[in-house]
Amino acid sequence: MQQVYNFAAGPAVLPQPVLQQVKDEFLSYHNSGMSITEISHRSSLFQDIIDDAEKTLRDLMQIPDDYAVLFVQGGGSQQFTEVPLNLGTDNVAYIDTGNWSKKAIAEAQKFPSLKVTTLASSEATHNTTIPSVPPVSANYDYVHITTNNTIEGTTYFDLPDVGKNVLVGDMSSNILAQRYNVQDFGLIYAGAQKNIAPAGLTIVIVRRDLIGKKKGLPAMLDYGLQSAKGSLYNTPPVFNIYMAGLVFHWLEDCGGVDEMEKVNRAKAKILYDYLDQSKLFSAPVKPTFRSLTNVPFVTGNAAMDQKFITAATEAKLLNLKGHRLVGGMRASLYNAMPITGVTKLVHFMAEFEQGEK
Ligand code: PMP
Repeated sequence: MQQVYNFAAGPAVLPQPVLQQVKDEFLSYHNSGMSITEISHRSSLFQDIIDDAEKTLRDLMQIPDDYAVLFVQGGGSQQFTEVPLNLGTDNVAYIDTGNWSKKAIAEAQKFPSLKVTTLASSEATHNTTIPSVPPVSANYDYVHITTNNTIEGTTYFDLPDVGKNVLVGDMSSNILAQRYNVQDFGLIYAGAQKNIAPAGLTIVIVRRDLIGKKKGLPAMLDYGLQSAKGSLYNTPPVFNIYMAGLVFHWLEDCGGVDEMEKVNRAKAKILYDYLDQSKLFSAPVKPTFRSLTNVPFVTGNAAMDQKFITAATEAKLLNLKGHRLVGGMRASLYNAMPITGVTKLVHFMAEFEQGEK
């Protein structure tokens, strides 16, 4: 099979060695005679898997003991509801940096008991920047940010100063791709399907003192209960947690998050440097806010964009179409995208540009 490079935004490329290992042990996990997809979530085989996945994630992200790590379902989107449900009492605040922030805000607004404040928005720059936040003196239950804007291609490299307030981060598209200090957040959540595992698993990292206070929450949405039950209140996504554990070990073998961030910076630089000198393509995001993991670019002409996407697909550079909200192209460069994928893309873009002269 010809080598393809998958630039999809999620579900996305996963590390080849991990996929190979999954294939090798798919029919009989650790000589049990059973597939990983057949074993009980109450078995010691699975308990070892989930314990090991949690420990490895704690090591990679340097998660302190006073934070719980939850493996749950429902995607990033369900967290848009769970965060206000569990942490909101009266006043909550959000920073709007694009489509996913707006969706998070819209879900919080469905709670009649909550006053939802948008502290800052990047709308005036068409979401090509991260807005600066005026000093936050009020008390909020939390301030919510989207650390990486998957569609618009912007990232927080510096976190906003939210005073004494608890910071909540939707890290769905850059968890483990660059270093954040977990202690700067009260809560971090991320859908797994970009940098961690197949779709169907969501990771929540939450300071223990923030949870378990509200009584009578729907069981499946209650962080306190999920934490007390070790993410085993009901049947968890066994296969996804197994794969997440393998990806965490792969990342350790690659040198961990700091090493991966260096590689991700190098990969992104190759593409942005090309885009900045190109006469055909351009990157709309302002340089200081440019995402390492999601790189949108355009020609400014929808027909030309389509011609490029078709030609790239034929050259096995796949899933480069931009999100329907912004059009153009987007290359997602998650941890498992090798540097050769980016150099091949840039060579192909240069050749395409030459052909259009
Ligand atoms: N937040 C961000 C930043 C995302 O990129 C996405 C999905 N692309 C979501 C939330 C929603 O995630 P899910 O599809 O897992 O609900």
